Parts: sequence; C-alpha cells; structure tokens
Amino acid sequence: MGGEERRRSLWGWGWADKIPDAESTRNLAVQIAGVLGVAESDLPEPLTPPDPGALSLPRPRIRPADAPPGLSTILDGSDAVRAAHTYGKAYRDIVRGLHGDYAPAPDLVATPTEEAQVEQILAWCDARRHVCIPFGGGTSVVGGVEAGPAAADRPPTISLDLRGLDRVHEVERTSGLARIAAGATGPILEGQLARHGFTLRHYPQSFEFSTLGGWIVTRAGGHFATGYTHIDERVASVRMLTPTGWWESRRLPGSGAGPSPDRLVCGSEGILGVVTEAWMRVAKRPRWRSKATVHFTSYEDAVAATRAIAQSGLMPANCRLLDHREAMLNMVASGDVAVLLLGFESADRPMETPLLRAVTLAKDFGGRLPEGSVRHADDEAEERAALPRPVGGDETWRAAFIDAPYLQSALATLGIIVDTFETACTWDGFEALHAGIVRAVKGAMREACGTGLITCRFTHVYPDGPAPYYTFIAPGRTEALLEQWAAIKTAASEAILAGGGTITHHHGVGRTHRAWYDRQRPDPFAAALRAAKRAVDPNGILNPGILVDP
Ligand SMILES: Cc1cc2nc3c(=O)[nH]c(=O)nc-3n(C[C@H](O)[C@H](O)[C@H](O)COP(=O)(O)OP(=O)(O)OC[C@H]3O[C@@H](n4cnc5c(N)ncnc54)[C@H](O)[C@@H]3O)c2cc1C
Repeated sequence: MGGEERRRSLWGWGWADKIPDAESTRNLAVQIAGVLGVAESDLPEPLTPPDPGALSLPRPRIRPADAPPGLSTILDGSDAVRAAHTYGKAYRDIVRGLHGDYAPAPDLVATPTEEAQVEQILAWCDARRHVCIPFGGGTSVVGGVEAGPAAADRPPTISLDLRGLDRVHEVERTSGLARIAAGATGPILEGQLARHGFTLRHYPQSFEFSTLGGWIVTRAGGHFATGYTHIDERVASVRMLTPTGWWESRRLPGSGAGPSPDRLVCGSEGILGVVTEAWMRVAKRPRWRSKATVHFTSYEDAVAATRAIAQSGLMPANCRLLDHREAMLNMVASGDVAVLLLGFESADRPMETPLLRAVTLAKDFGGRLPEGSVRHADDEAEERAALPRPVGGDETWRAAFIDAPYLQSALATLGIIVDTFETACTWDGFEALHAGIVRAVKGAMREACGTGLITCRFTHVYPDGPAPYYTFIAPGRTEALLEQWAAIKTAASEAILAGGGTITHHHGVGRTHRAWYDRQRPDPFAAALRAAKRAVDPNGILNPGILVDP
C-alpha cells in the first residue's frame, strides 16, 4: 500500500480496497440478475456508501476528559472512531452503515494496550454505571458489539476495543501450550506462533479480522470439519476480568472437579467479563495433506456418504458437502452435482490411507471422482523442490470462500439481500429440518421479494449430525431492505426451531438470535445464567441485553 496504512471499510467487510469497484459491481449485477432470473434493469441504482468524514452521529454524552486522570489518552470520542465501533459485520449492519445510520454509536471508544488499563476502564464504568461493550475484531454477525436501541435513557456507553492486547506472551513447548492475549487477530497470533514452529489452526472465515477473545466468548467454529471444531476444545485456561475481580482458571489437560469454569466463559459473549488472555492448545504445523473432490448426482446419496464418513472414525480435516447450487455459485461445479470436499492433514505421517478409505466410503453411495481430483502433498518436499501448489476444486472453493464477504458487501449496494445462517441437528432429523428450512425461506423470499435462491453446505459434521449452513439471495428494494431481510430471517429461525435445530451452530446469539435462544434453552439454566451474571456484574454494565435481560 505504498507505505500508507491500509484502511478497513467503515460499512462493508474487510479492507476497503478489496470491495469490488463500481465497474466490477455492475458486472456482478448482471450475473446475479441472471442467477435470480430477474431483469438487470429491475435492479436498483447502486447505493453510494456514505462519506466517512461527513457522518451524522448522536452527540456523545460523555467526553474523554470525564474519565479519571490517565485514561483520557486511551479514550476517543471522535465520530469516525465511534462509527467504526457502532456495528459488527452482519448484513443488517452493512445496510445500516450504507444508509449512514449510526444512531446506536457508543459515546466513547477505549483502546487499552495493557491489562491494567482494562481494569481501570472497567472500574470507571462500574462506578459510573456506564455500559461497557467488549469489542474484539467487530466481526459479530449477530449484533454482539452493538449498544442496543439508541434510547435517550440508555446509559453512556463505552466500546472497549481490545486489539491493543495482541501478543503471544509465551509458548510452553513441553505441553504444547501458548499464552495469548485476547485482542490478537488470526494473522497476528499465527505469525507469532509460527516463529516457535506452532499453530493454533483455528480458521473461521473471519480469521483475518476476528480475535482470540471474540472466538472464545462466541464459541467460534474453525475450518476443521470433524473433531475439534469449536475453539472451546483448544482452551486450556482463561483469564477474564469481571467487575467484581479476576476470574482465572488453572491450566490443566482435563479435570473432573465440578463444572468447568472455562465452559461458562466460552459462549459468555462478554456478559460476564472481559477476557484478556488465554492459554491455548497449539499444534505442530501439518506437513502431509491428502485431498479429494467427490461428485454426486443425488443430494440424498451425498448426505448418506457424508454421514458414513463422519461416523467412520477417520476424522477428515475437511468434509464439506456443497449442495448443487452452492457448488455452482462457488464455481466448483456447474449445478448438476453436489460436491463433497475431503481433506486430511497431519504433521506426523502421510495421509493417503485415510483419504482412500473415505473415498471408498463415498463411492459406496454413488460418489464419482473427477479426473485429477485426488491429490497428496508433502509440503516440505514441495518447498524443497519449489513446486507450485496444485489448483483444483478445493482451492477454487477456498478462494470463493475468502472473497464471499466482499461480494456480499458489493451486492448490498445493489439492493440485493444476501445473508447466511447456520444450525446443527441430528442425522435422523436432517431431512425434515432441511426441507422445512428450504420451504420456509423460499416462501418468505417469494412473499417479500418475489423470488430468491437458497443454498446449503455442511460446515461441520459430527458422528451424530451435520451443521448445515445456508445462504439466501433475493432481490430487495433499497428503501425496504431491512424489513425484507427480517421477514426472511424470521422465517428461517422459526423453521430451525420447529425442525429441532439450534438457532446457531457457531455465529453466536447476540441480539439477533436472542428471541429464539430464549425458547431453546432450559428455563432453570436461564435462571442460573442470570444469577451468575448478577454475581460477577451486579450493576449489569457488561453487554446488557445479550443472552440475559439486564
Ligand atoms: C464474513 C464473516 C465470516 C465469519 N465466519 C465465521 C466462521 O467461520 N466461524 C465463526 O465461528 N464465526 C464466524 N463469523 C462470526 C464472527 O467472526 C465470530 O463470532 C468471531 O468469533 C467474532 O470475533 P471478534 O473478535 O470479531 O468479536 P466481536 O465481533 O468484536 O465480538 C463478538 C462478541 O464477543 C464479545 N467480545 C469480544 N471480545 C471479547 C473479549 N476479549 N472479552 C469478552 N467479550 C468479548 C463482544 O462484546 C461481542 O458480544 C463470521 C463473521 C463474518 C462477518
């Protein structure tokens, strides 16, 4: 970037310079109109994103100078910084940002670089009853970092940006553990771990911008399709600051001593405390990789094959089933087949044998291997020989996966509604749940938008069930996008609960899923969570409205 600091988009996903420009967006419009079967001329004129220097935000009710001495230097009340901390990166957030609506902006943003400053900020908020919203990478898609309705009686609100706490403090090689600060993003922590020959290998799609603390408190899901998926399983111990003191667990490989304190932190979404660091289980970098792409004419056969592999004990790192439309949109097939992407990796031994066993299972259900779709790689040998990495179904999919959020932002400017949601269910319930979701979402898109498309992929598969992940795309009306989106999202969420799924597999609850989460959890558990919140945050300053009522 010619020495200039690279800028993140205020309203859209990721780097500002990666969001497709006006010409690419027009080309995209032509393609999407074709996919949706609507005339290009029916698509609205692209919305012009707001000028970040000319936003109209509510006036802050407190100023940095109101804070105790020493804190004012890490507090920012400027409109630009407050706007950048108003929303996460959900479709809803992108649309509100595009329309220049920053009404829920926090009053101040705090940017600590050390734990002592986090302590001072939290103590000040608690003493003054200011609301404190922990902010990691701000990639929440469920309204997790938003201050809630911008009511006049809402207490002054501080967004606590933790990205200044971004170091891998130490690596303990004997046990394979690393103490990592909570504000480290994926690339930062992986870069530092790599110097020690280790990796966390937790790759959510938001990897580039989300943080360790955000992953832990939302129980984020990484790229592994079987076995270890949620970050929880990589957490050895956590250090979290609550308004009533430090909550720190012991570093243990396992423990039967009552309910695990870490289990309550994982998924707490910032309502119990601010995670400042964690000991994480790290691993050696994988060296051997084996991959295959398998095609199925019948989706039902593809599901049965995926189940057989999930229940085989083979534990592939990748076992991603894309339905016919998902495979087409991601350019790994032309719409006539469902595609199963299989991958195995190991730091310890070649992976041909488990891959070939998984392929045999897939073939038992009618799976076909396109020519050249099986590949075995030895990274070290390839590096020594300076060989180019092979390109094919898996790499094509991966590139589409990384770019998808940028396309979503560009499509939003065209009045296209594009969003994703995810769930999990048992294998015996999948067929009915899937049919119910597709029916409900198609019906809602027809009613709200006239037409629309829904696709499905499995992001994770467990021996007892899959985690299906849906994408819906529909033509919207610029002035009614949020109402149209809400109608579709509500239909999807109702269908998930009616079909026995969970309202979220890895995106979290936040504000968006709260109504359905309340119906899904046992009442005594809700009471226990409320009591836990009262015990550690008696004044209810942390993330009010998330998971439990203030
Ligand atoms: C394009 C895109 C792709 C995504 N892909 C995935 C995916 O593959 N897998 C997945 O699981 N999720 C995914 N997400 C959702 C999101 O990235 C995750 O929920 C992620 O874990 C959030 O991390 P963050 O650091 O950005 O947290 P934020 O968005 O900043 O915060 C999320 C919640 O955690 C709280 N919080 C943040 N940091 C702390 C802390 N240190 N202590 C206490 N509370 C804290 C916040 O108050 C908020 O409630 C995706 C989102 C987008 C936009």
